[in-house]
Amino acid sequence: MATPSDPGTGNLLQAMGIDDPAAMKDFELLARVASLVTGAPNAFISFSDGGNLWRASSAVTPEQCVSRERAFCSALLESDDDTLVCSDVRRDPRTRVIAGSQPESPVVTYAGALLKTDDGRRLGTLCVTDHLERPPDAEQIDLLRGLARQSMNLVSLRAAKRELIEALAQMTHLARTDALTGLLNRRAFYEEAEALRKLVTRQHDSMSLVILDLDHFKRINDGLGHAAGDTVLGEIGRLLQAELRATDRVGRIGGEEFAIAMPFTTMHAAAQRIDRLRQQIADSPIVHGEHRITVTVSGGVAELQTAEQSIDGAMRRADRALYRAKAAGRDHIQLASAKSRRAAAPKFAPQSEPLQAA
Ligand code: GH3
Ligand code: MG
Ligand code: MG
Repeated sequence: MATPSDPGTGNLLQAMGIDDPAAMKDFELLARVASLVTGAPNAFISFSDGGNLWRASSAVTPEQCVSRERAFCSALLESDDDTLVCSDVRRDPRTRVIAGSQPESPVVTYAGALLKTDDGRRLGTLCVTDHLERPPDAEQIDLLRGLARQSMNLVSLRAAKRELIEALAQMTHLARTDALTGLLNRRAFYEEAEALRKLVTRQHDSMSLVILDLDHFKRINDGLGHAAGDTVLGEIGRLLQAELRATDRVGRIGGEEFAIAMPFTTMHAAAQRIDRLRQQIADSPIVHGEHRITVTVSGGVAELQTAEQSIDGAMRRADRALYRAKAAGRDHIQLASAKSRRAAAPKFAPQSEPLQAA
């Protein structure tokens, strides 16, 4: 079973769940059981971070953190044993000094069991204290040992759960991310764009969708090699992500094809922004080894229509506009017509004016 990977403070306190009321409740319950089975009025589950003990208690206590120097538990943590029973802490040589440093303390009897990991690290203690001289018997001490093991099982479970949550988050991230560019992959882009569509529709606002395709990209691969092509894709992805607004969503939806969802943006505003980006790409050669590679992109921009129930229609219109931009000579952005008139439109007939460079 997993245990905290590092006995350092952060992991320990996280393992104990000092900031998590639900986890603390579990430890408090075990402390209450310890108090009940021994008849001692106070029970604690404590984790050491070196200088301090962080503890859950059977009773309501204002002190969640106590100095280790003043805690009888330190005698157990520093011993070679797994349990410590002191009938009278004031007379026992192992606890006398600690008791002497706090004459106001009402504690007479102390009994504790060690909290240790499977590989033997001493993390803390489960203990009971009594203001009367009333040491637990052998069976009660055995039960304290069992409760200490249960406390460690809780720590292990929490650590395992945390690892699972982190692994799940990592897997979700990987499943949504294009490995080469770090942008959203095709599926994730469609999901995010769809969520944005719902948002802008609720607010009766506009949204634009853009498809950009690198021009003659195959020539880069063929002429300079696949690695050069990959560098270009990575740099274009980085530029798009850096230049667009945080509320825009950028994805790589095909080999050398990128899509952008621009919420709260009309088609004309989107096209102006994208055309500036097109110009910026054309003006910024990409360095790969000793090569400076000039790249151009073509793009199609479409605006979501009020009645549309998904982004598919707008993506299709953006794609057709892109096709026209390619046909019109590349390095070029085209606006889509408001409604699909594909069937009626003659092949290659312009459905809108080419956009002038901003
Ligand atoms: P056009 O201007 O008409 O878009 O021409 P193009 O050459 O860009 O388009 P085409 O569809 O003919 O070629 C796209 C190329 O993109 C072919 C494919 O090998 C390359 N490609 C796709 N994915 C990757 C990738 O991950 N890395 C690299 N280096 N190349 C890729
Ligand atoms: Mg291309
Ligand atoms: Mg393409």
